[in-house]
Amino acid sequence: MTIKEIITVPDEILKKVSNPIEKIGSDEKKLINDLFETMYHSNGIGLAAVQVGILKRVLVVDVSSKNEKKQPIALINPVIKNLSDEMSVYEEGCLSIPETFVEIERPKICEIEYIDEKGSKKNLKCDGLLSTCVQHEINHLDGKLIIDHLSKLKKDFIIKKISKIKKNPDRVVV
Ligand code: ZN
Repeated sequence: MTIKEIITVPDEILKKVSNPIEKIGSDEKKLINDLFETMYHSNGIGLAAVQVGILKRVLVVDVSSKNEKKQPIALINPVIKNLSDEMSVYEEGCLSIPETFVEIERPKICEIEYIDEKGSKKNLKCDGLLSTCVQHEINHLDGKLIIDHLSKLKKDFIIKKISKIKKNPDRVVV
């Protein structure tokens, strides 16, 4: 397993739509393992393949809390089948957008159809944090980020701020 570098805004790849996976071979299995490794290493609860530069429709999530048993789920070609009318709000962060949190309202419950690592078709009913996390990650597969929920002005401001952080070298006082 390899910890991959996570791509951050304003990299254009994050805006691209990922392609469906046609068959699950050793490359796809390795990708899933790398995604889990990278997500746990970064203390994230979800990661999509595009965030490590691979435009394939696969994502991993684990919303278990620190003291709980791990609950890793890999979703291949996930499709939203149903969304509840009831909404919930979370302040969402994103591993691809450092130091930024956006309050986003999403359907509280979502039903997903996907393929698991063994190639079986599965259904998953997600509620609360898992629902928000899965919707956030599926947005990644369609090139949509949490800052796309904001006005253009706010979005530009955040991207500018992050680009500056990236450009500045480490500051040292000697
Ligand atoms: Zn994200």
